[in-house]
Amino acid sequence: MKHNRISQVYYLRPFSYITFFNTFSSWYHLLKKSQHWTKAQVQKHQSQRIKELISHSVRNVPYYRKLFDSYGIKLDHINKPSDITKLPYITREDIKHNLSQLKAENYPKNAFKKTMTGGTTGSPLELYIEHAQWLGVHFAFNKIYMEQAGYHWADKVVSFTGISERYMYHPFHRTFEISSFYTAKKDFDEWYDKILKFKPSFITSYPSSLILFTQYVCNLQKKAPVLKAIFLHGETIFDWQRKLLQNYYDCPVFDQYGHRERCVFATTCKHSDKYHVFPEYGLMEIIDRKGNIVTKKGEQGEIVATGFTNKVFPLIRYKTGDIAVVDEIDCECGRQYPVIERIIGRTQEFLVTHTHERVPATGLYHVIAEHSHHIKECQLYQEKEGDLIIYVVKDEGFSEHDEKHILHAFKDRFKDSFSVTLRFIPSIKRTEQGKYRYVIQKIHNSQRE
Ligand SMILES: [Zn+2]
Repeated sequence: MKHNRISQVYYLRPFSYITFFNTFSSWYHLLKKSQHWTKAQVQKHQSQRIKELISHSVRNVPYYRKLFDSYGIKLDHINKPSDITKLPYITREDIKHNLSQLKAENYPKNAFKKTMTGGTTGSPLELYIEHAQWLGVHFAFNKIYMEQAGYHWADKVVSFTGISERYMYHPFHRTFEISSFYTAKKDFDEWYDKILKFKPSFITSYPSSLILFTQYVCNLQKKAPVLKAIFLHGETIFDWQRKLLQNYYDCPVFDQYGHRERCVFATTCKHSDKYHVFPEYGLMEIIDRKGNIVTKKGEQGEIVATGFTNKVFPLIRYKTGDIAVVDEIDCECGRQYPVIERIIGRTQEFLVTHTHERVPATGLYHVIAEHSHHIKECQLYQEKEGDLIIYVVKDEGFSEHDEKHILHAFKDRFKDSFSVTLRFIPSIKRTEQGKYRYVIQKIHNSQRE
């Protein structure tokens, strides 16, 4: 059974629960204070974190020890955030080929929890996070994010998420979870009734999941539930989607950007749809194609990030592959955080079932990644409703078992909604801009702009 972030709390052992709670508490209290810091205080904090991280990595992480040695980098070369540019980048390929070397030696074996990257960033990537601690960090940042809209722990929340069950209620969190995989008309009718009955104050969701549901109920001219705010995450949101949600629910729509590599956490605020990049979570740089840092409003480049929250598997100057546009605003919320106008490197796509239903593709990526760790890259291709081709670039160790597991996982989740074919190819063609796309959707989709 797949556990999502909320239910993972229930499966913590008593000792781990202490770790979870202490981590949550210390991060939450820091964030309550740091949102009022001046630019100088933010910079001082980041300098300290970077020094600590580099010092820890040199002492305890074989990969960095060797790397910094070969570059002649000493700890006293790093004094301020911008000094980080003296260090080399780390790429997905570097991580893939140095998995064990990136694990911190000063942590016991049971501190490491394996995770896979998701979203639309390319091939599945294995990573490690700190058992129980990561969950505390996650809850602290998300609580701060949601408190912007007046969220209180006793408020009821509906969450559209990638759970395998159709829906699930968590009384302790007062959260009603709905699976984003069930998107037929009868499902939406059921979700609508359940939401009205549950009376949530907030909805959290992938944009694509909530949009599908909202378009359906909006077309039927059903009365919208009364909400205080909507929180989105996991995919790029388009303006027309934000407007649709704001108009129908008549409430503010917030969006959060982050990824499983856990180096960046950025959110919009109640005064602005621009993304405030949390300096406590990590250091973000935006790098143009020539490798120069770009800082001027309107310039764009790749997000390169150094995470401060994950000491068991540190990522220093990690090339995320996501492209962002730099912005500068003096936001009314008062946060002196770096700002990005938008993230343009991630896409959201839908696939269409035999019964003409649209299913968000983001969740499907996880289905593949979770059932085979021997895939270099994959791409979903669709030109006919219900027919899905998965192009797979095999990695070492790929066998018939992987193929069976993937096909079985699709069958298990979608029954006969899709006829799935796996096709093996040596590499996946990039777009004209050199970008990797994980979904090629050839069916005309009039609901997208
Ligand atoms: Zn703001």
